[in-house]
Amino acid sequence: MTIAENIKNITSKLPEYVKLVAVSKTKPNSDILEAYEAGQRIFGENKVQDLSRKFEELPKDIEWHFIGHLQTNKIKYIAPFVSLLHGVDSFKLLKAINKEARKNNRKINCLLQFHIAEESTKFGFDYEEVTEALDSEEFKELDNIEICGVMGMATYTDDTDQIANEFANLKNIFLKLKEQYFSTNTAFKEISMGMSGDYKIAIEQGSTMVRVGSSIFGARNYAQK
Ligand SMILES: *Cc1c(COP(=O)(O)O)cnc(C)c1O
Repeated sequence: MTIAENIKNITSKLPEYVKLVAVSKTKPNSDILEAYEAGQRIFGENKVQDLSRKFEELPKDIEWHFIGHLQTNKIKYIAPFVSLLHGVDSFKLLKAINKEARKNNRKINCLLQFHIAEESTKFGFDYEEVTEALDSEEFKELDNIEICGVMGMATYTDDTDQIANEFANLKNIFLKLKEQYFSTNTAFKEISMGMSGDYKIAIEQGSTMVRVGSSIFGARNYAQK
C-alpha cells in the first residue's frame, strides 16, 4: 500500500467529526508531500527542530501540530506558526507558551495532556493539578493561549478492554472540565486520543482527533535518523 492509499483508507473510515493528524516524525519531506498530494493537511511532529525545518521546507497551507513533550526553552522556535500543541502537561509550560505567543502577537491552541495509562513513564497532568491551575488568578491572565481540549495516550497493551477504559476515562475528564470551566467556550471541544494500534477503540470512546503515524507512513526506523 502506498502512503496515498493509506491516507484514503483511513480517512474514509473516520466519522466526519474526527480529524486525522498524520504523524510524520522521522519521515522525509517526500513522504509528507505524498500524503499532501492525497489531500492530507494536518501533520504532527514531536521534535522542535524537525518541525521547524519541515515548516520552512513544505507547503504553507499545512497545519502543523506538535505532539511531543515540549521544553520551555524551545517554545520560541515553533511559537510563530504552530497550529496546536497536544502535549501540554504543566502549568509552568502553559505560562511559558503564553509568553511566547504574546511575543508573536497571537493565540496558541493547546491541549491538556492527561496521564491515563498504567505506565508511569508517560507525561501528563492529573485532574487535581489541572483544576488547581484553572482556578488560579494567574490562569485567567493567560490571554494568549486557547485551551482546546484534552489529549492522552493509552497503555501499550493487547488488552483492548483496558485501552477502552483508559480512553473512557479521558472522555470523562473532558466532560467534567467542559462542565466546570468551559461550558460557554466553544473552542474547548477536542479529545485527542488514538494512534495506529488503537485509534478505532479511541473513536468508539469519543475521540475527535486521532494521531496516526506508522499505519500511514510505515514503521519508523530510528536507527537511520
Ligand atoms: C509517534 C506518536 C504517535 C503515532 O504513533 P503510531 O503508532 O505510529 O501511529 C501518536 N501520538 C504521539 C504522541 C506519538 O509520539
